[in-house]
Amino acid sequence: MERAHKIRLNPTPFQEQWLLKACGIARFTYNWGLEQWQKQYKAGQKPSAYALKKQFNAIRRRKFPWTYEVTKCAVDTGFRNLDAAFKNFFRRVKNGKEKVSYPKFKSRKHSRQSFRMDGARVKLDGHWIKLQKLDEPINMTEELRLKGKIKSVVFSRDAVGDWYAAVLIEAEPPKHKHLQESVGLDLGVKTLVVLSDGVRFESQEPLRREQRKLRRLNKELSRRQQGSNRWQRTKLKLAKLHRKIKNRRLDYLHKITTYIAKTYRIIGMEDLNVCGMLKNHYLALSISDASFYEIRRQLKYKTEWCGGLLVEIDRFFPSSKICHVCGTINDGLLLSDRLWQCDCGAVLERDLNAAKNIKYEALRMIGRRSGFTETLNGRGEDVRPIWAILDEASKVAFSASQAVSFWHSLVNQVIGQ
Ligand SMILES: [Zn+2]
Repeated sequence: MERAHKIRLNPTPFQEQWLLKACGIARFTYNWGLEQWQKQYKAGQKPSAYALKKQFNAIRRRKFPWTYEVTKCAVDTGFRNLDAAFKNFFRRVKNGKEKVSYPKFKSRKHSRQSFRMDGARVKLDGHWIKLQKLDEPINMTEELRLKGKIKSVVFSRDAVGDWYAAVLIEAEPPKHKHLQESVGLDLGVKTLVVLSDGVRFESQEPLRREQRKLRRLNKELSRRQQGSNRWQRTKLKLAKLHRKIKNRRLDYLHKITTYIAKTYRIIGMEDLNVCGMLKNHYLALSISDASFYEIRRQLKYKTEWCGGLLVEIDRFFPSSKICHVCGTINDGLLLSDRLWQCDCGAVLERDLNAAKNIKYEALRMIGRRSGFTETLNGRGEDVRPIWAILDEASKVAFSASQAVSFWHSLVNQVIGQ
């Protein structure tokens, strides 16, 4: 299984120049390839990233000798990104529906600075990472915590100016024993996660002190003259604060998902609205939506790592409206009803009831798929047959394969950041 560990670097000024140069070459080759692609396409040819790379290499020594100053992986990164950009574009065009934008040129100012190196061209030793063609190894703030074969390393620079190496490893998952058999997850805005056994994780709001600071810095930035030294300084402060808030949020989500993936073997959660995602860009999502996707992303790989199973329930499954005791559907339930009583007499708390229904539905789904229902019952699991009849007409909009391919592109985006 592939796992990544992102480590902050302490490059010397010389090493930082080298890294910046490699990022610049990756961007340059990408832009060169994109330009050639457009020219060849207009001329009636059928360009490909692979062919363009060959054409580039044929004139490289004569026209772009400076690209030899760093690792050849920088050039490879450019064509690799070009290939990915067009594959992504064509797939989206084929799937239709959404507005698709043609691959854009990368700018020096606004594009992410990064490049990728093959695992064979880097060597890790304790706190040091040695890159091919760079004499001195770069210092890392921590050691690699995973064991296994290094597949690749992506070097990148964040908005504050710090450098990172994301090391991708092919690793063997450890033997893991779960404490509980199964759980259902209900995601919400105020309470972020409610588990079917009653465990709750509240939403974490940015601290008031930080919000005040954020407002103050934003005001300060708007007063400064754009591009001036003072403006740059405030902008850096703002980027640092944003990073701090983001890291705190991610740290909290990691703690939640690690707890869930390690404790429960079978985890049921609602499928998230993929259609809505197609319209919105990932970054345009509200904090709570972004947290939901991040929770799902983390649970996906952590359950796999721990040998568990993540089961996604159809998002039209009326998890809050079903009484988990008798199975009756309460269609009159309002969003504001936090507590309700079913005709059978059960008093139900909205989130907890939903989490329980999600768990039962997850167990029912895998029971139906693999014929394990009886085994699960034999383990003493409370499997209730909830044959909720869903309105077929409301289940339109996207096919399973579309959802999967979109999910892959999203994961790549997130991993790349
Ligand atoms: Zn009931």
